[in-house]
Amino acid sequence: MIIVLYGAPGCGKGTQASAILNRYGRDVCHLSVGDVFRKFQNEDSELASKIRSYMGKGALVPPEIVIDVVDNFMNDNHDKYKYFLFDGFPRSEEQAEAFLKIAKKFSEDYIVLTIDVPDEPIVKRLTSRKSCESCGAILGGDAKVCPKCGSTSFKKRDDDAKDVIENRLKLYHDMYDSLVKVFNENKVFIIDGNCDINIVSDSIFKLLETKVF
Ligand SMILES: [Zn+2]
Repeated sequence: MIIVLYGAPGCGKGTQASAILNRYGRDVCHLSVGDVFRKFQNEDSELASKIRSYMGKGALVPPEIVIDVVDNFMNDNHDKYKYFLFDGFPRSEEQAEAFLKIAKKFSEDYIVLTIDVPDEPIVKRLTSRKSCESCGAILGGDAKVCPKCGSTSFKKRDDDAKDVIENRLKLYHDMYDSLVKVFNENKVFIIDGNCDINIVSDSIFKLLETKVF
């Protein structure tokens, strides 16, 4: 069974992926495409040297290679694990079609979990974040003292400028809307992510325990 996790940037998807792994960790194999690419840096194979050549140029790894990487990953792991958590794949309609073929090839069923938070609270949350000037910790907008080092001087994060965030959200929505149609609609579940992180985790666990575990 493959669990595919989606959520806009800033929706808390990383936190929820960790919560899923903390709770069901031993049975769940986590696919993070970025981590897999990093692993290929030191590997001696044809696929690895192809990936290195793209990453070395700073170019995007083309979709057919991303698909090869996922296929390889499943080949290595599908006998060792019962459940998979996919985070960051598939990210396009083409990859979603390839995902369905891979799932079929390895006889895996799948479920899609989408953490839904309206844009407005995300923009508000991200634009108010700041970083500690002495230790670099990322803090919420209303923090007065850095909990890590006690410093009281902060700076606003450059990458959190409002238009940058709005643009990233638009890219996410365009990507999600185009690929979600590829999935069987009975396998797509929307989680309300606009509330306390523990409540979001609880709804995810409840759903997974009904549908997966
Ligand atoms: Zn600090």
